[in-house]
Amino acid sequence: VYGFRVRIGTEGRPGGGPGGHSEPGSAPRFAVRGTHVPVHDGTAYPLWSGTAVTLGRPPVLVADGQVRLLLAGELYNRAELTGALGGSSAALGDAELLLAAWRRWGPGAFRLLNGRFAALLTDASTGATVAATDHAGSVPLWLRADVTGLSAATEAKTLAHEPGRPLGLSGTHTAPGAAGVCRVPAGTALLLHGVGGSDITARAVRTWTPPLSRALPGEREAVDLVGERLATAVRTRLRGGEAAPTVVLSGGIDSGGVAAHTAALAPGTRSVSMGTEVSDEFDAARSVAVHLGTAHSEIRLHSAELVRELPWAVAAAEITDPTVLEYLLPLVALYRRLDTGPLRILTGYGADIPLGGMHRRTASLWSLDDEIAGDMAGFDGLNEMSPVLAGIAGKWTTHPYWDRAVLDALVSLEPGLKRRRGTDKWVLRQALSGLLPAETVARPKLGIHEGSGTTSAWTGLLLAEGIRRDEVTAVKGAMARRLYDAVVIDTVPPEDVDFGETVRRSVDAVRRLRL
Ligand code: ATP
Ligand code: MG
Ligand code: MG
Ligand code: MG
Repeated sequence: VYGFRVRIGTEGRPGGGPGGHSEPGSAPRFAVRGTHVPVHDGTAYPLWSGTAVTLGRPPVLVADGQVRLLLAGELYNRAELTGALGGSSAALGDAELLLAAWRRWGPGAFRLLNGRFAALLTDASTGATVAATDHAGSVPLWLRADVTGLSAATEAKTLAHEPGRPLGLSGTHTAPGAAGVCRVPAGTALLLHGVGGSDITARAVRTWTPPLSRALPGEREAVDLVGERLATAVRTRLRGGEAAPTVVLSGGIDSGGVAAHTAALAPGTRSVSMGTEVSDEFDAARSVAVHLGTAHSEIRLHSAELVRELPWAVAAAEITDPTVLEYLLPLVALYRRLDTGPLRILTGYGADIPLGGMHRRTASLWSLDDEIAGDMAGFDGLNEMSPVLAGIAGKWTTHPYWDRAVLDALVSLEPGLKRRRGTDKWVLRQALSGLLPAETVARPKLGIHEGSGTTSAWTGLLLAEGIRRDEVTAVKGAMARRLYDAVVIDTVPPEDVDFGETVRRSVDAVRRLRL
């Protein structure tokens, strides 16, 4: 399961939700593409009804006595969990394994998981409902409560038109422009009581938080730790019985490292790079692919075509921040151009956040560490890791650098191991030095928005409209918000967005401010 919209309550609502829009025959409009499977349990209170989107695997509303669990996503520390739980737990699917962990540890189970998931659980014996995210909140989880029940979904847009007065849920964040639609924070198990009544309560239990302390291992120890944890993160992300994995490969050190570990473990590993007529990193990516022997391909699109992917990027990420959209746009465009069929994609996304790759020119180790701490405190809600980005093309992504164990190790290294002897991301480069060409190990960071020409393509489009350079940022922001209002709040399918009109109206709005 990689998406869902369900209703939990005491009143049956056929078709999965309130109101006419979700009666049978008109499924909620997810951006993720896959098989829609009904989620239904009318045998016990609270009643469950709704829709899950799957990629070929069976739906996962699993039950254990009075407990029901819906899990979107997957777990990466299965071996540790089954070791602790014993018995025949190794044969369980991820959702059943989580149920077994719940039986043992209760809500504390969510502090033990290393995974990429959103989970919804009801325990009729205690009247508790739990809505939980992984440590990074990498699978967005949205809630909307009213006096008759609780709706939960992995996409805010599917909750934007619920009838009934919403009730506030403490410990959550409201979606822009969607009153009552609340996001469960990263690394949180939200414990709800009184669902289906006016006295619903919510208590946010933090299950992970970025480390603030720093460790002082020696060089060798740090390099070995990072190398081992990255290798494990890639291995646990390669699940058996599936098509060969694909690595989205830029030619930079981060995706190069993921590609190296993937190729070493999975025969037939594929790699793919995207570029535009403005810019590409094809030579750098090709030398990695040749070195590793991956089945490599290149996808080039015109920069005008790339910018026109913005409605899809906004529909997938459900954000209004144009800077983050510039990082995500080339990936969304790439995912949408990959072969159809089930596909597991590994990325090198996010390595720069704990390693301070974007802050390589800061003056001191303290300013580097302070930037890292700031970025780690501010990632939640940016939705950079959302599975919907590739789900919009029917693919599943996973990000080894944001594996919980990798992230814990990377964040907590003292900054002098991240920038050392004038080299940024030093510890990672050292850990990968035997696995990649020397030129890749030494290659300076190039942001995805730079290497693909995304920033300049979007800017160029606006300059061509007669926008002044100092207004470009404002118009990008206006465009992002306008697109968000269309594809998230008004649930317009991205293909029905009038892009030219969006540009013109955003330009006009900023010009009016100028006067
Ligand atoms: P570095 O940060 O050192 O440049 P990188 O290029 O691997 O390394 P980013 O630039 O931060 O990392 O990009 C994030 C991720 O997005 C990459 O690791 C890669 O998985 C993906 N990516 C970036 N650019 C491209 C591209 N042109 N084609 C395919 N995938 C890309
Ligand atoms: Mg990065
Ligand atoms: Mg990077
Ligand atoms: Mg790069």
